[in-house]
Amino acid sequence: MKIAIIGAGPAGLMAAQVLSDEGYAPTVFDAKPSAGRKFLQAGRGGLNLTHSEDFTLFSSRYFEAQSFLQPALEAFSPNEMRLWAQSLGFETFVGSSGKVYPLDKKAAPLLRAWLHKLKANNTQFKMKHRLVGWSKDIWQFETPDGLKDYSFDAVILALGGASWPRLGSTGAWTTILEDNGLNITPLKPANMGFNVTYSKLFKEKFSGTPLKNVELRFRDINGKLQSKLGELLVSEYGVQGSLIYTYSKLLREQIEQNSPFTVYLDLFPHRSESKLIQQLSASRGKQSLSAFWKRLGLTGVKASLLREVLAKELLTQPELVAKTLKKFPLTLDSYRPIEEAISTAGGLGFDNLDQHLMLKDFPSVFCVGEMLDWEAPTGGYLLTGVMGQGKQAAQGLLKLLQKI
Ligand SMILES: Cc1cc2nc3c(=O)[nH]c(=O)nc-3n(C[C@H](O)[C@H](O)[C@H](O)COP(=O)(O)OP(=O)(O)OC[C@H]3O[C@@H](n4cnc5c(N)ncnc54)[C@H](O)[C@@H]3O)c2cc1C
Repeated sequence: MKIAIIGAGPAGLMAAQVLSDEGYAPTVFDAKPSAGRKFLQAGRGGLNLTHSEDFTLFSSRYFEAQSFLQPALEAFSPNEMRLWAQSLGFETFVGSSGKVYPLDKKAAPLLRAWLHKLKANNTQFKMKHRLVGWSKDIWQFETPDGLKDYSFDAVILALGGASWPRLGSTGAWTTILEDNGLNITPLKPANMGFNVTYSKLFKEKFSGTPLKNVELRFRDINGKLQSKLGELLVSEYGVQGSLIYTYSKLLREQIEQNSPFTVYLDLFPHRSESKLIQQLSASRGKQSLSAFWKRLGLTGVKASLLREVLAKELLTQPELVAKTLKKFPLTLDSYRPIEEAISTAGGLGFDNLDQHLMLKDFPSVFCVGEMLDWEAPTGGYLLTGVMGQGKQAAQGLLKLLQKI
């Protein structure tokens, strides 16, 4: 039985695990010299494996694709993710925000243990094999020894999205699948930053500075008010960070219809506007404005943001300053390119797939992971989703094989 898994990211590796646990010996192909490069990169940020929130809430994080993700999440729930890490010798913990990480917050030891287990369990690896063509039963790979054609009894494609292409996922598979008549929604960045026009001075001084404890507010394209407390990061080009990523889909949709798009920040969410007016109206005597503001906690990046939008002579008007601090306009000019994004939106549409993620037009060919048309914010939803789909497809393939 020749089973190929093409793509050695977490989705493909999970499919390999399920199949090899059942006694099959799949071969995992990947374009890169080593497996799981994006998984390793995720480890640089602490490897947020999943989230501990209530499962119903967890499942709702997948936007319109929730119903398509549900079987994967049921096959591999957040709790199963934790048990999986434990089975490889890595305990997990729940961070203050409910996110779940391995105790050491590292990906490399976990990936090493996973690959070791897979190899011991008869999974073969063929690295430096880039899929470049597929026609009928022939799968063509570019290899160090030139082009090679393979044929298989079953194939699981786990080719990833198109963010961080240097880690292996380039999105070049879209043409290969389109050539076979499959519908692909254009790939777009997800969990990405947004461009904002700052003054040169502000950019030089504050790029890389977190903007903590702010509330972001805006209306989505359906007119629904969205708001959340959190933290964002001022970067050279604009803004990024968890609060921005939570809304990257809704903000991307707004930019596509109404660019540039202004969101509002409450820079003092725990102080009312009237309290701020009262504090800003107090006599400052001989103090400089900066020293006076400092007493109120208005310093650093927040004070400088104010100077970005209000002319000098307006900075002494308590009502206007308080109003601006409570509703600071942040204009997003555009979103950052997919190459920089944490993940990818768009991809192979679920209408091409059956309930086991098998292509309806190509029995015994399955597709899983970030290459499918869904997205989710950061918070462990991505890894749980892709690994769940790897498991779902492998279980589907096992069912198919039992029938033969
Ligand atoms: C900086 C960063 C931090 C992240 N942090 C987190 C986090 O903390 N938590 C979280 O849940 N998610 C995180 N993610 C997202 C997560 O890593 C991805 O969603 C996940 O890796 C996608 O898994 P996948 O298996 O679908 O695709 P990938 O991991 O992209 O794997 C696809 C594989 O397919 C191979 N491939 C592609 N094309 C071909 C081809 N033509 N031929 C052969 N092989 C090919 C690639 O080389 C790659 O190895 C992060 C991503 C980034 C970039």
